[in-house]
Amino acid sequence: MGIHQRYQLNDVDGARVGRFKGGVNTSFIVYRIGEALIDAGPANQWPAVRKFIGEQPVGKLLLTHHHEDHGGNASRIARHCGLVPFAPELSRDKLKTGYRTPVLQKLIWGSPRPVETQPLPEITVLDGGTRLQAIHTPGHAKDLHVFFLPDRGEVFSGDLYISKSLRYLRSDERLDQLTDSIRKVLALDFATLFCPHRGILENGKPSLAAKLENIITLCGQAQDLHQRGMPVENIVAELLGPEDMMARMTKYNFSKTNLIKEALKVPV
Ligand SMILES: [Zn+2]
Repeated sequence: MGIHQRYQLNDVDGARVGRFKGGVNTSFIVYRIGEALIDAGPANQWPAVRKFIGEQPVGKLLLTHHHEDHGGNASRIARHCGLVPFAPELSRDKLKTGYRTPVLQKLIWGSPRPVETQPLPEITVLDGGTRLQAIHTPGHAKDLHVFFLPDRGEVFSGDLYISKSLRYLRSDERLDQLTDSIRKVLALDFATLFCPHRGILENGKPSLAAKLENIITLCGQAQDLHQRGMPVENIVAELLGPEDMMARMTKYNFSKTNLIKEALKVPV
């Protein structure tokens, strides 16, 4: 399949890879800043990722969280480049022992290979002296960290952003934590957001603020209907339309119902 699209902003370079070319959710951008790679890309796209990392020396690999589109090639990159990847403490066991992924995710991303990592420091100094700060932003996943470059006003957002509104939620995602994490990142001084799915957002802060506002609006609407006695299933249909192929194909792991159930718990 190769590299679908290239991205560049100043000294940040990115390559979009993926078995399925079309969707934002089914392809992935590996970013590089100098000698540092941000996330490893999905295992079934190793040939494309190898081509990208072969263009210039890689000295560091930093992982935002354990999910297979982010960490899938970490073991191959470690061997290929002679490095030990950095990963959040909460990700390290899963990355080391490996973990099962649902069939649909396996089809899209392949199977992640186990990898030995070292703890991600709070501050990493990149070549050229740029500081990268790892900030814990749970919600999408317990271990998710975003990487903030305070000297440049840039954020590598892992899976904190992805899109400006949510329609589905994984069963292990926590919406109240996600909104707290978005608020934490909005308090940082940044403009550009590097999202591994959506791409480079030069208006990153207003985009992330819009996502928070959309979530809070949805929570308010869901809670209003709930207070009037409407069952969850009807709230889903009313606000998001009935469950569709996505829920059925993922056996309700990724569904609108998960989103509405979580929306009922978020203080608005
Ligand atoms: Zn993820």
